Order: sequence, then C-alpha cells, then structure tokens
Amino acid sequence: MSDSAATVKRLLPQITEANRHFWCGGADGRLHILRCGACGTWIHPYAARCPKCRSDSVAPEAISGLGTVAGFTINHQPWIRGLETPYVVALVELAEQANIRLMTNMPRTPIEAVRIGLPVKVFFEPDGEIFVPLFEAA
Ligand SMILES: [Zn+2]
Repeated sequence: MSDSAATVKRLLPQITEANRHFWCGGADGRLHILRCGACGTWIHPYAARCPKCRSDSVAPEAISGLGTVAGFTINHQPWIRGLETPYVVALVELAEQANIRLMTNMPRTPIEAVRIGLPVKVFFEPDGEIFVPLFEAA
C-alpha cells in the first residue's frame, strides 16, 4: 500500500449498467431507485424483474430521499485506514415503501442522536462519477 491509502475514505463500488442509476444518479441531487412500470413496486437492490409481479419493465426513478432509521450499529473497528471511527452503519427504510431499505452511513448526525425511527434525509458525497448516498437527521 502506498501512502495515498491513508487518505482513502470509502471503498467505492464498481459501476455497472445495472447499478449506475443508484451510485451515479445523485449527480442531480436526488436518489434513484428502480421501479416496476407495471405495478409501481420500488425495487432495491437491483433486480432485472419485479419481485412482486415478475414484469421486466423496471427502470430507475427519482425518489424523495426521505426515510427512517430501521436499525443501526456503531462501528468502532478501523476496517478502512483513514475512515475515522466510531461511525454509524444504518439501515434506512425509504419513505416510498415499507421494507425497501438501504445500508448507509450517517456522518453528519451525532452518534448519540441516532435511534430507530429517526426521520432522515439523503445527501451525497461525490467521488469522481460516484455520488455515495448518505443520510442525516431530517
Ligand atoms: Zn411489478
């Protein structure tokens, strides 16, 4: 590892055509999630077919970016050099649909303020073409 590894903040995903809407869509300031064109079900993570009606008419749409904390843990282990600990790993349920949840971090919210049921909103941390969706107290 070179010295530049000390400045690494996050491990970034490999962008594919299947996940580009999610990781790069934040360039317009909005979170994009797949939605079924036949029944309206929101789909995350990516699936080629709707899990509810099996339609393959799925395409990304912008959503409100609002949600609530469904669960969280506080990580104290410095797994990634340069990523300051402790930090919150949160499971956020999106406002649009029950049981559609994202794993995320909440670096702008004090750890002691994070609780299950906390209303949150998305913001993005840009890194090249990727806009990492993160959440903060709404
Ligand atoms: Zn459907």
